[in-house]
Amino acid sequence: RQNERESLFIVLNFAKTFFQNTLLKSDEGQSIGLSYFRERGFTNPTIEAFELGYSVDQWDALMQEAEKRGYNRALLEKAGLILTREGNAPGQVKQYDRFRGRVMFPIHNVSGRVIAFGARILKTDKNQPKYLNSPETEVYHKSQVLYGISQAKQTIRQEDNCFLTEGYTDVISLYQAGIKNVVASSGTSLTMEQIRLISRFTQNVTMLYDGDAAGIKAALRGVDMVLEEGLNVSIVTFPDNEDPDSYVRRVGGEAFKTYIKNNALDFIRFKAETLLRDAGENPFRKAEVIAEVVESIIKIPDPLKRQIFFRNTAQQLNVDEQTLISEGNRLIRKQH
Ligand code: ATP
Ligand code: MN
Ligand code: MN
Ligand code: MN
Repeated sequence: RQNERESLFIVLNFAKTFFQNTLLKSDEGQSIGLSYFRERGFTNPTIEAFELGYSVDQWDALMQEAEKRGYNRALLEKAGLILTREGNAPGQVKQYDRFRGRVMFPIHNVSGRVIAFGARILKTDKNQPKYLNSPETEVYHKSQVLYGISQAKQTIRQEDNCFLTEGYTDVISLYQAGIKNVVASSGTSLTMEQIRLISRFTQNVTMLYDGDAAGIKAALRGVDMVLEEGLNVSIVTFPDNEDPDSYVRRVGGEAFKTYIKNNALDFIRFKAETLLRDAGENPFRKAEVIAEVVESIIKIPDPLKRQIFFRNTAQQLNVDEQTLISEGNRLIRKQH
């Protein structure tokens, strides 16, 4: 078991280096992959820090080189690097590289070892997923991983705060702009394991989610999970059709920090403002929104914090504190 994990780490590291060399040294890598990263504004030190790479648009470039180096196909398959399908003749199988013609984002575990890849196509194509990811393997359990954690963990401790984003490029662009305490749930909706991973380094999470409907929906769900784990959470949303990556590239690191300072909402205001936007002046809807906020408060494990948030909510939403507390108690009873 231990040996097998070790072999996977070794072949994944080989693949990472292969994709890096392809990006930086091959004609196709430079003219397609590197110019793509340049267009996104990524500098050489950034490309190096995240060990970005490129996979050529061929069926078996990685597999051939790997076999030359003595890695067998069974191992490549276990690592999620190659795929197998039936050939035309009976009993015949064909194996080929999973990642082809894509820019490569290695995914590292907390200690910085490569455990998987995310891979982006260069041009949007309706017939192909924008990002392709490694499958679950013995070393990659995507619900337990946060993209960028190995690069971010030291700064998360120092700043005593973690910025949580949705995507690979959000992490990379913020890092390049000097904001290094940033990770992404990247593709999976946020899990309790991912929140627990953050809690090893800080108790404070700032969620930076995309300014689209999907981002807001994910943030609403994420807030309750972070609260349930006992962490403090604030939320920043971005203008429609922007994400942290596009925003920081447009305004720069300093203005980005100012935006965060001025727009961070506690979860009460975030939920109330987001949900009240559709509720308008309808008193029935408003009551439902208040009940939604109470739903979040009762997720907080610490009774003292809970009490403070009941008071804040009463003040912010102009409702009676005792009524909120009894509503909370009613909801708790309903759960049991
Ligand atoms: P880009 O800026 O390159 O278009 P993004 O990070 O802004 O990418 P989003 O569409 O906001 O992309 O998605 C957020 C994250 O969700 C991505 O970074 C990726 O990890 C994951 N993701 C998006 N689309 C897919 C997909 N089709 N399959 C798997 N994961 C995906
Ligand atoms: Mn999005
Ligand atoms: Mn983006
Ligand atoms: Mn995005």
